[in-house]
Amino acid sequence: MRRRRGETTKAGRSAKAIPASKGPKLPFDIDEVMRRIRAAVRDVPDAAMFALRDLGYGTLFQQLVACIISIRTTDEVSLPTALALLEQAPTAKDVAALDVREIDAAIRSATFHAPKAAQIHAIARRAVEEFGGELPADADVLQSFAGVGPKCANLALGVARHVPRISVDVHVWRVVNRWGYVSGRTPEATLAALERVLPKKYWIEINRRLVPFGKHICTGVRPKCSTCPVLEYCRQVGVTEHR
Ligand code: SF4
Repeated sequence: MRRRRGETTKAGRSAKAIPASKGPKLPFDIDEVMRRIRAAVRDVPDAAMFALRDLGYGTLFQQLVACIISIRTTDEVSLPTALALLEQAPTAKDVAALDVREIDAAIRSATFHAPKAAQIHAIARRAVEEFGGELPADADVLQSFAGVGPKCANLALGVARHVPRISVDVHVWRVVNRWGYVSGRTPEATLAALERVLPKKYWIEINRRLVPFGKHICTGVRPKCSTCPVLEYCRQVGVTEHR
């Protein structure tokens, strides 16, 4: 339910008046916005899949497995959980040789670990039996696996193979819609809208930057608009309360 200015929230806080920045804004400049956000998140932990690649787990199979583990699981949990499995079984052949219970034990910290373990085992077996141990850089093939949607297929292809594809997770979805850069009621609609307007040079990078930006600055509840580096470009669509 929408609140008017100054109304009290359920938590008892007084909703802060919308800032002066709700006034005139600069024309949206994606190059300047990306430059500022890159600088703003420089000192916070990298998005999990990019961090995993930099730790030496950058194959398409490893990235896809890690992304499945990360679904509805925080980066703080999903990164060590992916490492727990991939250190033990770094290739599709290694994972296929495990049974589902062993995979489940390795990823037990992740949300929905049991179905994820079965999905990961099935992907490993198909990678070995159909593709000689590594997955093809083909989004349709990746999305044919149970548990893999556009978010994970695109992210894995981008991080592992540098294929320019946009991965819209909850942070990317929220932030680009708040900017007013696109308008998408769902991640799928937002992906389609971004594909029309976002320069291709940012298709992989946008996830890398907006995940930490969404976690630390443009948070789901009460974003930090008053100190946000892109306030003068952002239309703050749907923002009714901020810090
Ligand atoms: S923190 Fe506020 S000003 Fe910054 S991007 Fe998010 S909604 Fe816009």
